[in-house]
Amino acid sequence: MNEPRKLFVKSFGCQMNVYDSRRMADTLAPQGYVETSAADDADLVILNTCDIREKAAEKVYSELGRVRRLKETAAAEGRRVVIAVAGCVAQAEGAEIIRRAPAVDLVFGPQSYHRLPQLLARAEREGKAVDTEFPLDDKFDHLAAPSSATIRARGVSAFVTVQEGCDKFCTFCVVPYTRGSEVSRPVRKILAEIERLAQAGVREVTLIGQNVNAYHGEGSNGRPRSLAQLLEEVSTIDDIDRLRYTTSHPRDMDDDLIAAHRDLPKLMPQLHLPVQSGSDRILAAMNRGHTREDYIDICARLRGARPDLALTSDFIVGFPGESEEDFAATLELVRKIGFSGAFSFKYSARPGTPGAEMSDQIDEDIKSERLQRLQAEIDRQREAFNHRCLSRTFDVLFEKPGRHGGQLVGRSPYLQPVQVSAPASLLGAVAAVTITEVASNSLFGALAQAPAREPDLLGAGA
Ligand code: SF4
Repeated sequence: MNEPRKLFVKSFGCQMNVYDSRRMADTLAPQGYVETSAADDADLVILNTCDIREKAAEKVYSELGRVRRLKETAAAEGRRVVIAVAGCVAQAEGAEIIRRAPAVDLVFGPQSYHRLPQLLARAEREGKAVDTEFPLDDKFDHLAAPSSATIRARGVSAFVTVQEGCDKFCTFCVVPYTRGSEVSRPVRKILAEIERLAQAGVREVTLIGQNVNAYHGEGSNGRPRSLAQLLEEVSTIDDIDRLRYTTSHPRDMDDDLIAAHRDLPKLMPQLHLPVQSGSDRILAAMNRGHTREDYIDICARLRGARPDLALTSDFIVGFPGESEEDFAATLELVRKIGFSGAFSFKYSARPGTPGAEMSDQIDEDIKSERLQRLQAEIDRQREAFNHRCLSRTFDVLFEKPGRHGGQLVGRSPYLQPVQVSAPASLLGAVAAVTITEVASNSLFGALAQAPAREPDLLGAGA
């Protein structure tokens, strides 16, 4: 029998990349590849890259320097290591990656990973292979399903891609160029995947997509179904206790989806809804297609539907032309909405996007100073939100053993990690926990006697 070959996948960026990396591993499992967590042990190293943040390509090239040294060490021991670069940087850079990093054997974009076995064979045959096409066939039809044992090893909470790509063309973003236009998977294929996950022990599913609430996949009657309708269908799967979805765009937050937060008990009271800026002038320059008032109105309606909804968001500070007044409008929006957390970044020009061509770029020192002020406010809100959880009782899904014996780590409905003294038999189960201590980003709790719901946890403004 052949020795299994070892696969090391390093994921950069978002949850979509984590999901893609897992599906690559699933696709290679029938070829005899088993995953390893040690890069220096691997026969195949895949860097699954992300192009969202500043200097993404440069970071990949510096990582490739490290991987090249692994390849050289292995070669000295008579072992061949194949290096592949996948994801959005691969899509954007293409063959340039092999020109700048000749140790790389294979470059392939996000729409090609179902062809990985053939691409590896081509790289073996021809020395190098590059595939950055947007194929017309559905890659999900060609991906191998993970085994039950693999699903179990990955834990009780799983991501499922339901939508890919974006047609919005925000002027700062590369996604429409690297992931292509919006495509939604048919409902029945998503349900089949989630049923398989549920049978193997998964209890929580997060539906993911670059623009997940633009979902419009084919339903059983051949007509498009919305994300609200998809969530409703998924919530009928008995063994799935919890549902989430990410990442959403305010423009696609329709009435049905807002109502789903009221009507679907399995839909967790936490939503990531990027706004990017609180200034109408900057939102227009970003081509976001919504105003500050639109966003405030959506959040109010969401909280009307689900009063304890914990909202998180994304912010970009220092977008070209952002004045102190524009930034003050962002800070004011943050204070008005009250978030349980947020990701915030300095604007960085992504080559090929309209924002990169704008003339009124902002000085780095000004960006840094604004980012600090914004993050101080967001940190204050996150801590305030966590402290309001003290003494409350809510359900926690236990995901893994804690660092100390007799301890489990789970997630609150609001997505906070919670550490609890609890028997290992509760791993994978939902149990009521009373929060006894709050420290930094973590909550600590004790098993409660009975579950409780706290609908007034956040309220408007923090
Ligand atoms: S909505 Fe805007 S930020 Fe989000 S993926 Fe599309 S272009 Fe990028």
